[in-house]
Amino acid sequence: MSCKSYNTHIEESNPATVLTLLGDLASSVSSNSNIPKPPQLPSKMYRRSKHPSRPPECSFVLKETKDIWDKLFKEGHGADVFIITDDQSYLLAHSSVLSAASPVLHNIIQQSIVKDGMKHIKIPGVHYESIYVFVRFLYSSCYEEQKMKKNVLHLLVLSHCYLVPSLKRVCIHLLEQGWLTQENVIDVLQLARSCDAPRLSFICVRMVVKDFRTISSTEGWKVMKHANPALEQELIESFVKADSRKQEKLRKMEEKKVYLELYEAMEALLHICQEGCRTIGPRDKVLKGSRVTCNYPACKGLEALVRHFSNCKTRVPGGCVHCKRMWQLFELHSQMCSEPDSCKVPLCRHFKEKMQQQSQKDEAKWRLLVSKVVNAKNALGPFSARPSKFIMTN
Ligand SMILES: [Zn+2]
Ligand SMILES: [Zn+2]
Ligand SMILES: [Zn+2]
Repeated sequence: MSCKSYNTHIEESNPATVLTLLGDLASSVSSNSNIPKPPQLPSKMYRRSKHPSRPPECSFVLKETKDIWDKLFKEGHGADVFIITDDQSYLLAHSSVLSAASPVLHNIIQQSIVKDGMKHIKIPGVHYESIYVFVRFLYSSCYEEQKMKKNVLHLLVLSHCYLVPSLKRVCIHLLEQGWLTQENVIDVLQLARSCDAPRLSFICVRMVVKDFRTISSTEGWKVMKHANPALEQELIESFVKADSRKQEKLRKMEEKKVYLELYEAMEALLHICQEGCRTIGPRDKVLKGSRVTCNYPACKGLEALVRHFSNCKTRVPGGCVHCKRMWQLFELHSQMCSEPDSCKVPLCRHFKEKMQQQSQKDEAKWRLLVSKVVNAKNALGPFSARPSKFIMTN
């Protein structure tokens, strides 16, 4: 029979735990060899601990000890309590153990009816199997994984109502570490809230937001919708908020991509107008295929646009869409160019002069655009393919 058990006394910050574990290690070494047993740990080591006033406590429970308590529960020798369940079954238990394990059970036992020397108590609201796992845990902290999994929600409630924090920790831990499913998450969330388990509740909400469409069509959701419409509203709002945050992030990423493309167009424009691209061939020839790729990703597209611009016969005010695009790129270049006197990019000086007359509003608009284009490149970090060729003009 598989039995999981929790050492309910181990505390991370408890120096006695470390000492006990060390002691255990030493004894297992000595039993396997001729190494003499180490001397007793000096008692002054306890005094050096963080809690000098606390008495040293042994906190490692041996399996044999748990087995003894498990046996006491299962065999019920000397039992003096009948626990009656809702489905008219009963369990035998020891009032002293129940009282020590749960202050609530202690009170119930004190007020119980005694018949033929046996105290009779009731644990209402849950069926026999859950109570069996619950009481067994009170004795030995042992449980069968299958039964625990099947009854974990009832056990969470029992541990909360009967004030058994060790069991509550186990239930919460098991749910958080993998027993939470799309089917049970809504029930778990409601129980986590009423049983004061804020982290579990937070994890549930996060799961609902992540798998909203699936979870909002489960049985659990339908029941909750009728019983607790405020919770449904809250979960919908959480989902909407998270979703709009996601959309906003996508929008920003998309925007950044556009600015980065503009930056690359500016670099390619300089490269075409100053050096001329050797890869895609001279202006008067057909554009070569990209057998050898030019280092400037925007080069080929821009070269085609420049060629179109110089040959366009479309006679519409302001030019065709392609020409308009070219004008905008030239103007953006000019806004970013720091050497208009020696610059070979067409219209660079023309736009620089035009800038002298532009309104403050236009100036601010251009400055914002330039800073976004430059920042998109800078955001790639110092190890991006090429160093920035532009400096910001103001
Ligand atoms: Zn090129
Ligand atoms: Zn055109
Ligand atoms: Zn220029």
